[in-house]
Formats: sequence, C-alpha cells, structure tokens
Amino acid sequence: MKAIIIGGGIGGLCAATALAQRGWDVEVLERAAQFTEVGAGLSLWPNALRALDALGLGDSIRERALMSAQAGIRTASGSWLSRTDTDELERRFGRLAMVHRADILDILSAAAPSGSLRAGVTVHEVQPDGTVLHTDGVSTADLVVAADGIHSIVRRSVWPDAPSPRYAGYTAWRMVTEPMPIDEGVESWGRGQRVGYAQLPDGRVYCYATASAPEGTSSTGLAELRQRFGDWHEPIPALLDATADDAVLHHDIHALPPLTTYVSDKIALLGDAAHAMTPNLGQGACQALEDAVVLAGLLAGSDSVASALKEYDHARRPRTQMIARSADRIGSVGQWSSPPAVVLRNAAMRLAPASSFYRSLAPILNWSV
Ligand SMILES: Cc1cc2nc3c(=O)[nH]c(=O)nc-3n(C[C@H](O)[C@H](O)[C@H](O)COP(=O)(O)OP(=O)(O)OC[C@H]3O[C@@H](n4cnc5c(N)ncnc54)[C@H](O)[C@@H]3O)c2cc1C
Repeated sequence: MKAIIIGGGIGGLCAATALAQRGWDVEVLERAAQFTEVGAGLSLWPNALRALDALGLGDSIRERALMSAQAGIRTASGSWLSRTDTDELERRFGRLAMVHRADILDILSAAAPSGSLRAGVTVHEVQPDGTVLHTDGVSTADLVVAADGIHSIVRRSVWPDAPSPRYAGYTAWRMVTEPMPIDEGVESWGRGQRVGYAQLPDGRVYCYATASAPEGTSSTGLAELRQRFGDWHEPIPALLDATADDAVLHHDIHALPPLTTYVSDKIALLGDAAHAMTPNLGQGACQALEDAVVLAGLLAGSDSVASALKEYDHARRPRTQMIARSADRIGSVGQWSSPPAVVLRNAAMRLAPASSFYRSLAPILNWSV
C-alpha cells in the first residue's frame, strides 16, 4: 500500500516513519528546497515523547534535548504569579524536552525510509480518490496524508468550504540567543504582551514574545522587542542583548477554527493542516506527533483505509479541538491589557492552588499510545 504525505514538517516526517514502520510504501512531497525548520526552540511535552517512544525515537530526542520544564509565570517586574513545582510536574506526567527545531527535524528526516523524501515538489491540488497534482506531475496513492500546515492546499482543495485560519489578535517573535546561562526558564505576563525563555541543550536560550496588535502590523524586530521588553525583569534585557538582529522571527498568530471532519475518502488531515492552534500550551507539534502515531496504528489494525480513517477522525478530532480551545483561552487571558482586568487576573493567578494547574494539564499530558 502506498501513502503520499504532503509536507515534510514535524507532522509529515513523523507520519512517514510511523507508516513505514507499519509496512507502508511512503513518499513525502515537500515544497521547500530542503527539509528544514525555523531557527527556534520547541517544547515537547511527555505526551509527545510517548508518541516518539512508540517509534523508537524518544531517546534520540532526549539526547539532544534539555529535559526541564518552565518554572512558572512572573510579572513584568519579576514577581511570581504562579510557581511550578517542576519535580511534582515530572512525577505526575513525565519530563518535558526542550529542543531546537532543527534537531527534531534532523532526527525525523534520518528516521524516514531512504529515498522517500522529495524536496522541491509543490502540490497544487488533491482529489479525494488519492490523486495528487504537483510540480513534477501527477501521483496516486491508497492514502494521502495532508501534513501541509495551517494554510493546507489539501484542505482547501478537498474541503473548499472549510473555514480559513483566523487571526488570534496577537503577533509573536521567536529567537535563539548566543550561549548564555540562565537560572530557569519562565514566562512573564504584562499588559497585552508576554515574553518567555528556556535554555537549550547547547547553552543558547530560546526566547519568544507576544503582543496584541492589528493583523499584519510590521515589526522592527529586535529594536521593537527592546522597546517593549527592555525594562522587564532580568534576564530579559540580557537575553535581548545576546540576540543577533537577524535571529528574530516575527509572525502573526493564526489558528484554525474547528473542522467538522479530518478525513474524506483516501485523505487524512494531520498536524496544523487539521488543527493549527495558538502556541499557548506548546502543543501544536506534540499533537502532530500523536496524530501520526495514532493514524499508523489504526491503519495497521484495520482491514480498510476507509474504516481506519473514520476511527482516526473519532480519535483525534475531539482531543485536538479540546486542546486548541484551552490554548485559545490561555492566550486571550494572557493578552489582557486593561489595567483592572490585569490586576484581577494576577490576583487570581497568585491564589490559584497548584492542584488546579495539574488538573488542567492531566487530560493533555496523560495521553499514551
Ligand atoms: C510561536 C510559535 C511557537 C510554538 N511553539 C510550540 C512548542 O513549543 N511546542 C509545540 O508542540 N508546538 C509549538 N508550536 C506549533 C508547531 O510549530 C506546529 O504545530 C507544528 O510545527 C506543525 O507541524 P506540521 O508538520 O503540521 O506543519 P508545518 O510545520 O507547517 O509543516 C508543513 C510543511 O508542509 C510544507 N508544505 C506546505 N504547503 C505545501 C505544498 N502545497 N506542497 C508541498 N509542501 C507543502 C511546508 O513547506 C512545511 O514544510 C508553535 C507555533 C508557533 C507559531
């Protein structure tokens, strides 16, 4: 049986390995000239590590990761809004891996069957019967996995009436600093803007920031970050000083409204193509990894592609849409900017018991294959 996977990001590459391990002949079509990821960090929560373990890749990731969770949420001046007991978090759910995106892409590309990765091929159209029209011609397959990201051409061609991604109301910056030690990773919330950072295994620091802004607002990059966050608590100003101008990535944050199905005939949507979510829980890529492992497992245990895809839709849609909703809620509260609302929010966060934090994470992190 042959599967064409469209998109060679984290979701597509993971799907290639998961399906190949179950005996599928796979081909990954990627429009970029190389299989690469943006220069930023990525948190892989225990649920994602369990998905990678199912493919025998978890330990390779752990070797290239810093296994540590963020220590909590602070205000712009540095006082704690909520402090995470990272030992307790790990005891309950397992450890969190902080990796550079390039490293996970390397590991996933190396795990895919040799000769299965075709870079520089752009897909233009897909038909529900598994016909794929692309820049090198036409291909057909028993299964087409659409892992082509938030603006998925597959979704648009098979489901022309599906909703389009919508702007979340805030924009984001990501960067990796020069190596510098930090005591612990945290996220800090101000009024209408947030910044977070986490150490990477090679001593560099992955930083990200958000700010409420009209869609499409241009940014001056590091200069704007200095103006917004330069007087926040240490080490934020020091992290900005350790960042090169050209290391700053800037993107508006979009999310996909819930779809009514992830499958049609021979097509399965996976990862951001199915459920692009705001990054507030650090779960987008984690969910793409889960999708890939679940899809391959269901196909292996089913006597037809059609029934496996139906089960995949039932297994994945409620879970991923629940996580997307939670991420949205956290993002909107995190972006509040009215001073009275921020005072109330901060007071509530200081009073919230740790048990409510663990309870909210349990359905997300307790997942296993
Ligand atoms: C600021 C920010 C921070 C984040 N932090 C985290 C985090 O810490 N942890 C986490 O789990 N997630 C995080 N995410 C989410 C995560 O990045 C995504 O969910 C994940 O990368 C989605 O992977 P994907 O493979 O589904 O899609 P993508 O990574 O978008 O890959 C899609 C691929 O398809 C290719 N493609 C697109 N169209 C075509 C076409 N027509 N033909 C051929 N190829 C095509 C693209 O070139 C691309 O390589 C974050 C997101 C953002 C924006």
